[in-house]
Amino acid sequence: MSLSISFKHYSNWNAKLKDKPLIIAGPCSAESEEQVLKTAKEIDKIKLVKIYRAGIWKPRTRPGSFDGIGTIALKWLQKVKEQTSLLTTVEVATPQHIEDCLKHNVDILWIGARTTSNPFSVQELANALKGVKIPVMIKNPINPDLQLWSGAIERIANTGINTIAAIHRGFYPFEKTNFRNIPKWEVPIELKTRFPNLPIICDPSHISGKTKYVAEISQKAMDMNMDGLMIETHCCPEQAKSDIQQQLTPEQLQHLIENLNIRNSSSDNIGFINILEQYRDQIDSLDMQMLELLSQRMDIVEEIGEYKKENNVTILQLRRWENILRTRIEHGSNLNLPQDFIKKLLQLVHKASIQKQTEVMYKGKKK
Ligand code: PEP
Ligand code: MN
Repeated sequence: MSLSISFKHYSNWNAKLKDKPLIIAGPCSAESEEQVLKTAKEIDKIKLVKIYRAGIWKPRTRPGSFDGIGTIALKWLQKVKEQTSLLTTVEVATPQHIEDCLKHNVDILWIGARTTSNPFSVQELANALKGVKIPVMIKNPINPDLQLWSGAIERIANTGINTIAAIHRGFYPFEKTNFRNIPKWEVPIELKTRFPNLPIICDPSHISGKTKYVAEISQKAMDMNMDGLMIETHCCPEQAKSDIQQQLTPEQLQHLIENLNIRNSSSDNIGFINILEQYRDQIDSLDMQMLELLSQRMDIVEEIGEYKKENNVTILQLRRWENILRTRIEHGSNLNLPQDFIKKLLQLVHKASIQKQTEVMYKGKKK
């Protein structure tokens, strides 16, 4: 499916949202009228921030936590629109939320990570959005499932809405990590290859989980050429009722934005282009050599498979595998290659080798 979706399609958006990066800021949750307005007015002073976020219905993993103030906060967001230059955005998870937001002139809707994970819910939202003209931002699902993320985008695009953006907020960490959610940058990069015109906004707050990592992740997102940032900001973060550890003060937000290094997404400089070409030629040649070596390796794997078959020996040889891992990781480290990278690479190669020898063992036989 080729989607031509872009914020630019929404005429209202052109004037306000032409600056890149697009910055969205505001508290995790709307908590009181005073907190909503105070935070908004302070954020409004920061030039690049164009959109004010606030969660009104909060998807909490376990019952008993603060689950949002509810519809009353939509009136506070209307006041934000009257008293500042900011547009507003709210998370919606049910058709009723959409109806309430539209009634209160919320400018942009977003679909949260837990909702994106459920195609039934996304379809219900899509049905409620038929014929409605409003931009929708779609967070990645909790798990790094690109199909699910693309599917949610397609369901919303199928309603006729062409002002869609994706939000990258990281993925549930099964591995040990400093972050609350693992960024897995390769997933949004793959999404960008699928939908080249789709703007992708990074949410460094939910990736970080802690204020101290928010700037680093924001810079990384800019280096990945993402189109914007959604950053949780609260006038008094220490009193926040949700996500207390990851919200910045408006002052910290301003500091973060001022220190961002926004690089060009390309360059017209002929000298630069020529030198880049030379580097790329080297990479191309090395990649080809790598593939040829892998193919030679695989031929030998196949021969070993035949030999094991003749001698009735198992495919998996644990000692040998442990030895390969250990020596290659050691050698890789001496060559300045990260251990984790070598380990993952070898696991892939080993998996393909086992597959190849399984084919050899069962050639011509029913398994
Ligand atoms: C949020 O933005 O506050 C939120 C609940 O995010 P997510 O859906 O990414 O968990
Ligand atoms: Mn939050």
